[in-house]
Parts: sequence; C-alpha cells; structure tokens
Amino acid sequence: MNKYKILVLAGDGIGPEIVGEALKVLKAVERKYNLYFETRVALVGGASIDKYGIPLTDETLKLAKESDAVLLGAVGGPKWENLDYSIRPERALLALRKELGLFANLRPAKIYPVLADASTLKREVIDGVDIMVIRELTGGLYFGMPKGVEKLPDGTERGINTMVYTTPEIERIAKVAFEVARKRRKRVTSVDKANVLETTELWRKVVTEVHKDYPDIELSHMYVDNCAMQLVRNPKQFDVIVTENMFGDILSDEAAILTGSIGMLPSASLGQRVNKVGLPIGMYEPIHGSAPDIAGKDIANPIATILSVAMMLRFSFNLTKEADDIERSVENVLNKGYRTTDIKQEGTKVLGCKEMGDAIVREIEG
Ligand code: NAD
Repeated sequence: MNKYKILVLAGDGIGPEIVGEALKVLKAVERKYNLYFETRVALVGGASIDKYGIPLTDETLKLAKESDAVLLGAVGGPKWENLDYSIRPERALLALRKELGLFANLRPAKIYPVLADASTLKREVIDGVDIMVIRELTGGLYFGMPKGVEKLPDGTERGINTMVYTTPEIERIAKVAFEVARKRRKRVTSVDKANVLETTELWRKVVTEVHKDYPDIELSHMYVDNCAMQLVRNPKQFDVIVTENMFGDILSDEAAILTGSIGMLPSASLGQRVNKVGLPIGMYEPIHGSAPDIAGKDIANPIATILSVAMMLRFSFNLTKEADDIERSVENVLNKGYRTTDIKQEGTKVLGCKEMGDAIVREIEG
C-alpha cells in the first residue's frame, strides 16, 4: 500500500476551520478506500510569525520538500498588516512556490447547476461550464529581466518589465496542460498574443511542437483579448486553457467569477519534482484568503478546501475514483439543498462550517 505524506499548513483566519473539515473528508476517503495518508502539521503565515517571528521556518520548508503534497488553508490578516513586507504572512506562499519550484497553477471554474443563479451571467450562458485555467507561474512578464524604474537624463523616468520565455519553460507547462486535458474532455486552448508579442510567437510554436506527442488531444490557439471576450460570451467552448503568467493571472480571475462563489473554488500549483508515484509534488489551496471577518464563527464555506483535497488526490496521487467521489459528494450535498451562509438561497438549509464537513463525510460514507 502506498503511503502518501501530506504537509498540512492551516494558516490564519478561517484556515484552521476549513482545513479541519478537509482533513475529516480525507480521513473518510482513507477509511473507505483502505488508503494511508501520513499528515504532518506545521505553522505558516501569521501563526508562524507569532511563534517564530517569521512566516515560514526552514524546518517547515524542509517538511514541505519531504512531502508528496502540501495542503494549505490561507494566510494573512489585519494583525500582521503593518509588518515589513519581508516578513508578512504572504511571503510564506511566495517562498513555498519558489522553493518547491511550482511553475503550473491550475484553477478550475465549474458551475454547479443548483448554484448557477449566483453568477452574474445568464443561466443559459453558464450552465455546464467546466473550465481549467492553467497559468504559468514562475516566468513571463512578472519575472523577466530587466525590470525596474530608471531615471532618464531629461529628468523623466522609464518603467521596464520584460516578457521572457525559454523553450523548456513553455514545453513543461504545455505538457501539464495536455496531461490535465487527458483527464478531462481532451481539449486545450493555448492563449497568446502571437500577432504582437514575439515571446508568445515562440509560445505558440513550442506548444504546437509539444502537441505532436499528444495526438489524442485537440489543440486550438486564441489571442488573449479574444479569450477575455469568449469567457463571458460563450464560456462553454473551453475545457483546458493554458497561458503565460500575466494573461493567466487575469483570465483565471475572470473565469472564477463566472461561478459567483469564492468559497467554492480550489486550486493546485504543481512543480517539476515528482513524488514516489511519479506525479508532480503540488501545493493545494482554496483561491480565497483567510476571511478574518468571519474567522472563528464556524460559518466559513469549507468546500473550496475540500475540493482542493480532491485535486490533490487526482493530480499528485492519481487517485481518480477517490477524487471523483469527493467531487460527487459535494455536488450531492448541494443538490440536497445544504448551503453555507455565503451561498445560501431561498428554500435551502444553512449549515455551519463543521456541519457542512460532516454532511460531505456522510455522503462519502454512503
Ligand atoms: P478573502 O478571500 O479572505 O475574503 C473576501 C470575502 O470573501 C470576505 O468577505 C470573506 O468573508 C469571504 N470569504 C472568503 N472565503 C470564504 C469562505 N471560505 N467562506 C465564506 N466566505 C468567504 O480576501 P480579503 O478579505 O481580501 O483578504 C483577507 C486576508 O487574506 C488578507 O490578509 C489577505 O492578504 C489574505 N489573502 C490570503 C490568500 C492566501 O492565503 N492564498 C489569498 C488572498 C488573500
């Protein structure tokens, strides 16, 4: 039996509450499918600052590197907002991404039919939407050199950022996109601006080249401006979208908001290093923050974190039926009319964070 090592970093605010429910679900899957997950727990973000003075200790980083996957809640809050940038809670996330080499960010945007009315778009436009946006996370415009603001001899200033990608950087993210598409509806849309930006001309060429190894996957290319429009005009046309860092930053938020509910959206960041089952070591977390306004009240929605566990099982451990089981259980609970406060609708029954976790566990246990 494979033993999977998971580092659990609950973090701040609602982090411990939502991660607690996600771990209950993981335990239920462990029991049902006779698996063994070894979970280790450490502090991160503000909680780590309070105890050790820094948001991420070397010891925690070491634990992360020794794990097959990391499950994270959220970090940050008003208590630490006035600290110097170098020791703010959010620095922990940047350090984890860098040290674990997490270059691929996966953000699904799926519409649950019973929640479709929470979207700002018409039901007929979004019903059935199920998109995976894959954003390159460590290159492109956000990291390219040179960058900065310089003084010019005439007293004015010049700001510079550089969009750079090398062939290997594009190859590895393209492979992630095609592999992910294989587990979905087998379609990839690569988004670029190849009509204007030479960097993305290379992007298009390399993605097309990598595609030759994936004849079972349908590949199309789209300019980023058109993609931004198509996401609100006809989002159902997309399965997997793969794109560079800044385009992905913007498009993944646009895709997320189609669903209308921040407490429902998981994410994964995958690295180059593989674990003992030959799959990428990843960090799995909800897309929302630590929600200090509702922390400690047992009203947070744990579903984004529970769905992050499903992504972990699917992408880092290849436990497909177990991941499907979690996702189906979440959908069943919603179909039965159970909601947390953030997604409540007329005629539904509002549950607390713990009760929602329990309801999903009961569904898994059948
Ligand atoms: P937020 O996502 O924490 O909250 C935005 C709004 O959504 C709030 O009203 C909150 O109550 C609500 N919300 C968020 N998650 C919810 C859930 N699971 N269930 C129910 N309601 C939920 O964003 P913010 O308020 O801008 O940031 C709060 C703190 O979180 C800040 O310190 C910020 O830096 C940090 N943050 C952390 C991460 C992360 O850890 N990855 C991401 C974003 C923000």
